[in-house]
Amino acid sequence: MAGRGARRRELRHAHNVMIAEQAMGRIAFIGLGAMGLPMARNLAAANLRPSCFDAAEAARERAASCGLDVASSLEEAAAGADTVVTMLQNGEQVLAVWRALLPLMPQGALFIDCSTIDIAQARDAHALASYAGARAVDAPVSGGVAGAEAGSLTFMCGGTSEAFAAATPILEKMGARLFHCGDPGLGQATKLCNNLMLGVTMIATAEAFALAERIGLPAQKLFEVAAASSGQSWSLTTYCPVAGLAPASPANRDYATGFATRLMLKDLRLAESAAARAGAVTPLGAAAAQLYALYEAQGGGGRDFSGVIEMLAGKV
Ligand code: NAD
Repeated sequence: MAGRGARRRELRHAHNVMIAEQAMGRIAFIGLGAMGLPMARNLAAANLRPSCFDAAEAARERAASCGLDVASSLEEAAAGADTVVTMLQNGEQVLAVWRALLPLMPQGALFIDCSTIDIAQARDAHALASYAGARAVDAPVSGGVAGAEAGSLTFMCGGTSEAFAAATPILEKMGARLFHCGDPGLGQATKLCNNLMLGVTMIATAEAFALAERIGLPAQKLFEVAAASSGQSWSLTTYCPVAGLAPASPANRDYATGFATRLMLKDLRLAESAAARAGAVTPLGAAAAQLYALYEAQGGGGRDFSGVIEMLAGKV
C-alpha cells in the first residue's frame, strides 16, 4: 500500500513538473558570488536566460564578461520575471531582497532561496511570500563551488509539494540531486543537520590521525583499516584530512580549495542557534564550532575545513 502511495506521489510530482516546465517564464537571479555566478551560468546554458543582479559592481562586471544578462538594479532584474532565485550570504540579505521584490512580482510568482540561512529567517521569508500571494522554496545546496560549476549540486528543499514541483525544472539545470525535505524551512534544517554531522566527523577523524602520528601508527595503515571498519565516514574515505590517501581530498592541495572553514563555522553556528531555539542539546556541535573558530583565528578561515588537522596536530 505504502509503495502505491509513493508511486502516486511520484506521478503527481512528475505531472506538476511538466506543467511548471510549460509555464516557465523569466528568472531574476540575485547574488553572483562564488556560487551564484556559476549557477546562473548553468541556467543560461540551458537557455533560461536569467536576468542577473548583484549589489557589488565587480560581481556584475564578472557576470557580464561571462555573457550573462546583467541588470543595473534589483528592480530592473525583476522586470518581466515570474521567478526569483537568490544566492546570498545570510538571512538578512535574503529577507531584504525578497521584501523589495515581492510587491513587484505577479501573483503566484515563485521565490527560490538557495543560500544557507537561519531556519527561522527562512520561515519568515516563506511567510512574507505567502502573504504576498507568491510561492516559495528554501533550497540550500551541498557540493560547493565545484558542484555549482559542474551543475552537480544537491538541493535540499522545503516548501509545499506544488512549490517544489514548480522549482524542479529550474533546480535541475543547476544540480544533479533534488530532495523535498518537507514543510517551509526543512530544506535549511536538513542542510544544517547534515553539516553538523560533517563538522563533527571531520574533527573526530582529524583527531584520530593526529593521535596516530604521535603513537607512530602510519596514516596509510589507519586509513586502510578504518575505511573497512566502524570508523568509516565520508570525512575519512572521500575527504581524508591527511594528504595522499583519498584522491579528491583538499589535503592533497594543501587545503587551499574546498569548503572554507569560515563557511563550516557559519553553518555550525546556525545549527547551534536552531538547537537553542528548539531546546535540543548539541554539545559536539558546540565543541566543533569552538575548534573551527580557533583555527579561523589562527589564519585557517579561508582554508578547507579539513585543514583543522594542522591545528589539532600542533602544526599551526
Ligand atoms: P559570496 O559572498 O561569494 O556571494 C554572495 C553575493 O551576494 C556577493 O557577490 C554579494 O555582493 C551579493 N549580495 C549581498 N547582498 C546583496 C543584495 N542585497 N543584493 C544583491 N546582491 C547581494 O557567497 P557564496 O560563496 O556564493 O555563498 C552564497 C551562499 O551559498 C551562502 O549562503 C553560503 O553559505 C552558501 N554556500 C556556499 C558554499 C561555498 O562553497 N561557497 C557551499 C554551500 C553553500
